[in-house]
Amino acid sequence: MAKRDFYEILGVAKNASEDEIKKAYRKLAMKHHPDRNPDSKQAEEKFKEAKEAYEMLSDAKKREAYDRYGHAGVDPNMGGGGGAGAGGFADAFGDIFGDIFGGGRGGGRSSGPQVYRGADLRYNLEITLEQAANGFDTTIRVPSWDECEPCHGTGAKPGTSAVTCTTCGGHGQVRMQQGLFSIQQTCPKCHGTGKIIPEPCTSCSGVGRIKRNKTLEVKIPAGIDDGMRIRSSGNGEPGVNGGPPGDLYVEIHIKPHSVFQREGDDLHCEMPISFVKATLGGEIEVPTLSGKASFTIPEGTQTGKTFRLRSKGIKGVRSGFPGDLFCHVVIETPVKLTDKQKDLLRDFEKLTTEGGSKHSPQSKSWMDKVKKFFE
Ligand SMILES: [Zn+2]
Ligand SMILES: [Zn+2]
Repeated sequence: MAKRDFYEILGVAKNASEDEIKKAYRKLAMKHHPDRNPDSKQAEEKFKEAKEAYEMLSDAKKREAYDRYGHAGVDPNMGGGGGAGAGGFADAFGDIFGDIFGGGRGGGRSSGPQVYRGADLRYNLEITLEQAANGFDTTIRVPSWDECEPCHGTGAKPGTSAVTCTTCGGHGQVRMQQGLFSIQQTCPKCHGTGKIIPEPCTSCSGVGRIKRNKTLEVKIPAGIDDGMRIRSSGNGEPGVNGGPPGDLYVEIHIKPHSVFQREGDDLHCEMPISFVKATLGGEIEVPTLSGKASFTIPEGTQTGKTFRLRSKGIKGVRSGFPGDLFCHVVIETPVKLTDKQKDLLRDFEKLTTEGGSKHSPQSKSWMDKVKKFFE
């Protein structure tokens, strides 16, 4: 039976003053007092009801809690029924108190063992950048649970059976008073199942399930990025007491690539080119995820210059549009030169110096700054 509203019991308005509440209570208490109504069970109930309502509404703190959370806010002995208050309470404190009110049970507080949704599982899947770019289908091995055959899922040794938990009387929950609130907690003895298994099944150690592995097909969509998760509904751990199973999340980890760094849907790569090529310009070839591409760099290309190849990045998993490829020029100083090569370079240096500073404007301007600094 649902508990009656305290204001209704006293016959006062929600905004009634302390005085009005007191008067209303006195009237009811006189009317239903056991001394005046000997042997009347009904009067006794009414008297108790009025007394409780008065105790709650005459205390400012309790009244406030009641106004906000209903019976759940103030009643340490609340039994079944009374859904509205409990729901409001769970909404207000759900994050802090976790599963106290069993979020999945929809506010009603029926007695009986707590029903839990199974835990979610996470599977880390390492893939290459190419796989991420193009998408692929794969199979993974994940844990699964089958009903234990010898005990038929009861967890009790064949020939024996589970008994009702004495700590919680089979409800799966116990109540604790914490200040103003009555906190409902999962029974520590039976962990919410409401049952104790005196002789556990030896095959499953009393769990009732046997853990196995199963193969799951996973479709990796093209363009998926590092850290993204794919949900496989219902493939998590099984629920408790008939609760629904959790979900499995496949979390994507992309291995570092030897050539490309990914930034969102764009790709970046360093492109070392010889100083001769950079000086003279010309066509150069670069790798992309979809094969080779070539483009022309202009004469006098400097280190740090970036060339953008449109749509040669990764096709976004959400946008559906491809990103770009950015090639960053690094000019490589030649090493291990022969005497002949060195001689040619010395001749080259002589010729360029004769041309004044025009061949290396950056060096010239830098030298000018240095000179000024020492002046
Ligand atoms: Zn218990
Ligand atoms: Zn078993």
